[in-house]
Amino acid sequence: MYDFIIIGGGILGMSTAMQLKDAYPEKRMLLLEKEDGPARHQTGHNSGVIHAGVYYTPGSLKARFCLEGNRATKAFCETHGIAYDSCGKLLVATNEVELGRMKALWERTEANGLEREWLDAGALAEREPNITGVGGIFVPSSGIVDYAEVTRAMAAEFERRGGEIRYSREVTGLDERRQEVVVTTTTETFSSRYLVSCSGLMADRVVRMLGQTPSFTICPFRGEYFQLPEHRNAIVNHLIYPIPDPSMPFLGVHLTRMIDGSVTVGPNAVLALAREGYRKRDVSAADLVGMVSHPGILKVLWRHLGPGMREMKNSLSRRGYLEEVRKYCPSLTLDDLKPYPAGVRAQAVTRDGKLVDDFLFVNTPRTINVGNAPSPAATSALPIGAHIVAKVREQVDSQR
Ligand SMILES: Cc1cc2nc3c(=O)[nH]c(=O)nc-3n(C[C@H](O)[C@H](O)[C@H](O)COP(=O)(O)OP(=O)(O)OC[C@H]3O[C@@H](n4cnc5c(N)ncnc54)[C@H](O)[C@@H]3O)c2cc1C
Repeated sequence: MYDFIIIGGGILGMSTAMQLKDAYPEKRMLLLEKEDGPARHQTGHNSGVIHAGVYYTPGSLKARFCLEGNRATKAFCETHGIAYDSCGKLLVATNEVELGRMKALWERTEANGLEREWLDAGALAEREPNITGVGGIFVPSSGIVDYAEVTRAMAAEFERRGGEIRYSREVTGLDERRQEVVVTTTTETFSSRYLVSCSGLMADRVVRMLGQTPSFTICPFRGEYFQLPEHRNAIVNHLIYPIPDPSMPFLGVHLTRMIDGSVTVGPNAVLALAREGYRKRDVSAADLVGMVSHPGILKVLWRHLGPGMREMKNSLSRRGYLEEVRKYCPSLTLDDLKPYPAGVRAQAVTRDGKLVDDFLFVNTPRTINVGNAPSPAATSALPIGAHIVAKVREQVDSQR
């Protein structure tokens, strides 16, 4: 019998496991991951940005955890000798409409307590000679890191403190009883007093295994990238983001310096036809049926038909994709867009067709399940893990 079982070897599962072992050093803990190593899904396929917390609704968990996570991630990297770069982020307005939105974003950064600098067109050109715009906001605390490396360091910490990790173990069934949770995997069955699930793209399915009907379903959105050729690596000094449409802040491809020195363009957001469908041609009949039979997903697609079609068109046409980034980086050409692996975002959608904005958790007496943890959840992994540990402690104390 284990005291705690954690499902998911992404950054949230590893961060939670590591901090849970710190809180309960004597307890037996096991982390189960279906792949053959850590960080194989969202955590290993993202932009690697340590977000500062620009866009998030003041007072939301995202705003709070992102701000805390920015500092905590950098401190963790320093302690564990992991390379990161506080290169700063530049939000660039390319026309008058975006300049109006930029003013609203300036207010939001104020409400979220961020240090930032307002740049006019001249100051922007001085800072970024290859970027064109009518103005920008510079946020110095944004940075870059390799989240897979951070996750591996968390896994090593968990194991060093006596935690067990078993890879290639897919959890296929859960039975929550009065004194324990029985966890069935593809190879063995375990039992545990408490369970935490950080299962990303499978979050709703794990909640269903507990016999619960979640208020949401996971909609997978593929984020496709390109990489610039090596001779273009010095094209930008900072992370370059367009000013987003406030109703769809996650849209808008950005130029991201990666920690290995390369520069990526992206990601866009197109509906994936399989939850773990990293290539355009990946289709899962079961996932598709789940999507088309969910009223919420159909409503989301209908409501965002215009932008959705544009993203789809740009996914099919490199020229269209290029035009998005040429708005602020006009010297880029088609030859500059080299292939780069895509990621798939797990976005929770409610039955009435809303994209769940904030981080979301589903708790039962002996389990805590992460339901919605899209970006900036990698940045926020340490405070999210601490939050889960505090919730576990409440459960443990109430069962005494
Ligand atoms: C394209 C893209 C760009 C992003 N950019 C950023 C960024 O720059 N900065 C940032 O902060 N965030 C970013 N994010 C978001 C961030 O990557 C995720 O929020 C974060 O990685 C979520 O971590 P996780 O541990 O919840 O999920 P995951 O990393 O997906 O891990 C979940 C794990 O659970 C396992 N699992 C699922 N079901 C089972 C089961 N039944 N049994 C056993 N194991 C199971 C999976 O195999 C997986 O390893 C981005 C995401 C994407 C997709």
